[in-house]
Amino acid sequence: MAASRDTNADDEHDPEGATIAFERSQVQALVRDARRRLEEVSTALERLDAGTYGVCEVCGGPVGDGRLEARPTARTCISCAAR
Ligand SMILES: [Zn+2]
Repeated sequence: MAASRDTNADDEHDPEGATIAFERSQVQALVRDARRRLEEVSTALERLDAGTYGVCEVCGGPVGDGRLEARPTARTCISCAAR
């Protein structure tokens, strides 16, 4: 992005399809999503270390094996998640 900042390349009128700006925003969304997932995994690992993995952060009950299997980074039990 920095490399293209000072150019005046006209990517907005390319008849072949998506503009660079569009593709850039798509990639930024992917990067944001990947960072969020990494953050979730990292906090899940912290909970493992702290011995609170699998404990609902809202009600203190068990998150549930099925839920953890489907979503290993879940921080709340299914009933608290549904609230
Ligand atoms: Zn709960």
